[in-house]
Amino acid sequence: MPITLSSQAADTRPVLFDSHCHLDLPELLPQLELHLANAKAVGVESFLVPAVQSSAWLPLLELKRCYGFYIALGVHPWWASQTEVAALTELEALAALPEVCAIGEIGLDFALDEQSFVLQRQCFELQLQLAAKLKKPVILHHRKSQNELLQVLKQQQFNQGGILHAFSGSFAQGKAFIDRGFKLGIGGTITYDRAEKTRKAVKQFPLDALVLETDSPSMPLNGFQGQINTPAMLPLVLKELAELRGEDPQHIAQVLYNNTVQLFQYRL
Ligand SMILES: [Zn+2]
Repeated sequence: MPITLSSQAADTRPVLFDSHCHLDLPELLPQLELHLANAKAVGVESFLVPAVQSSAWLPLLELKRCYGFYIALGVHPWWASQTEVAALTELEALAALPEVCAIGEIGLDFALDEQSFVLQRQCFELQLQLAAKLKKPVILHHRKSQNELLQVLKQQQFNQGGILHAFSGSFAQGKAFIDRGFKLGIGGTITYDRAEKTRKAVKQFPLDALVLETDSPSMPLNGFQGQINTPAMLPLVLKELAELRGEDPQHIAQVLYNNTVQLFQYRL
C-alpha cells in the first residue's frame, strides 16, 4: 500500500504530554471535546490537570474517569483561605486514591498582596507534608518565591520530587530544584525574546530534567497574546525548545514524554 504524505507525517509526528493544563476551568471546560480533538490532531496525547481549589477535586476525579487525564489535587496559592485550609482534611482521603498522581497545584505567590502570605505558607506547608505522607510528587507554582519554596522543601526534607511548573529564571535557579529531584515545566515563556535569562538557561539543563506544558488557559505564547491558551499550542513550545537547544524535536519530545510518564506512572 502506498504511503501517503499525511500518514508519513502522522508516523513521524512527536507525541507530547501537556504536563500542566487547566482543562477543568470555565475557559476550557465547555468545549473540552473540541480542545482534546485539536490537541490530539497535533500529537498532544496526554494531559495532567492540576486542581486549583477544593471545589474542583470531585469534578476532577470524575473527569479523570471519563477521559483518562492524569490529575493532581490541591489548593493553589491564589485560593489559599481559612476555608481551603479546613478542606485539607478532605484532601488527605481523596489524594490517597491511586488515580491521583500528585498534590497540586500548590506553592507560594509573592506577587499577591502581602496580607495573603501567612495563609499561603500555611496552606503550602500542610500540603507538602501531606504529599510526603502519601509519598506523592507535587506540582509547584512560583512567583517571586523560588527561594522561599526551596527553603520550605529543605526544612521539610521533602524528597518526593515533582514539577516546578512554568519555570523561569537562571540556570542556577533551575538547577537548585533539579538537585532536589524536581523536573522543570517548560512552557510559553521561552517563546518571548524578553525572557532572555530563561531562554539561555533551558539550553543548558539536562533533557531528563525537563517536561513540557502550556498552563492553558493562561500563558499564551508569543504572537497569541490576549487569546485563550490551549494544549494544541504545545508543539510550538517544543519547536522553540528544539531551536534554542539545536536538537532534534522528535528526540526532545520522546525524552520529555518519558520524563513525565516516569514521574507519575507508578501511581496509575
Ligand atoms: Zn496552573
